[in-house]
Amino acid sequence: MRTKIVAGNWKMNKTLQETVTLINDLKNTVKPDNNVEIIVAPPYVNLVEAVNLLKDLPIKVSAQNMHFADNGAYTGEISAVMLKAIGVRTVILGHSERRAYFNETDEVLQKKAHKAYEKSMTNIFCVGEKLEEREAEKHFDVVKSQLSNTLFQLPMEAYKKIVIAYEPVWAIGTGHTATPEQAQEMHKFIRDTLAKKYGRDLADTVRILYGGSVKPGNAAEIFLKPDVDGGLIGGASLNAEDFNAIVEAAKS
Ligand code: PEP
Repeated sequence: MRTKIVAGNWKMNKTLQETVTLINDLKNTVKPDNNVEIIVAPPYVNLVEAVNLLKDLPIKVSAQNMHFADNGAYTGEISAVMLKAIGVRTVILGHSERRAYFNETDEVLQKKAHKAYEKSMTNIFCVGEKLEEREAEKHFDVVKSQLSNTLFQLPMEAYKKIVIAYEPVWAIGTGHTATPEQAQEMHKFIRDTLAKKYGRDLADTVRILYGGSVKPGNAAEIFLKPDVDGGLIGGASLNAEDFNAIVEAAKS
């Protein structure tokens, strides 16, 4: 039995004051229970405050990215060591916006994934194809290659702290969500690919989240699919009521 996860990726949204407001709204709205793990990922500068505000609640705080080195001459970057020092033990890696706008390659992401493993951080690792790749029916090949070049370089043990997020690029922030059937088809493919590499027992334990225009109105039908273990939520995570509705959808 895999516990579902609903994770909110705030991206580059919310000032410190707005972060306090949103977290207080979440505290008044969201009812955490054992059926769903809840995670929020504010921008770096608001992580300390978020950790502090959520310290008594089972809502985890995640970073949206990190560097693969522990420290050094990497202007503008943040390391796993720094995140752990402020109580952040989860990180989103390989988001398609990082890949597209900041040139993050599989080679770099493999190093980041390895660092997350080395530092025992939960790694929400994103994969997903672009529209033209789906139209050319290359989506399975693209996702398989993203996994082979990165997570599949890690030992079995690493999967205790790996969550995979399938995020078709054409569905992110566009309002065009994948159908529940498209999501299930890809999630099953990812699980079968994991099983071929590491064995069925391991594959059956790994949570695979869907991300891409999940909203209160479509979350339940997507989360009902057997290989969908929750969602990575962008836009709808910026509003406490919408985020709560998605958390509730994951509970049912
Ligand atoms: C995301 O950025 O991970 C995402 C899924 O965004 P949205 O929900 O806005 O499509």
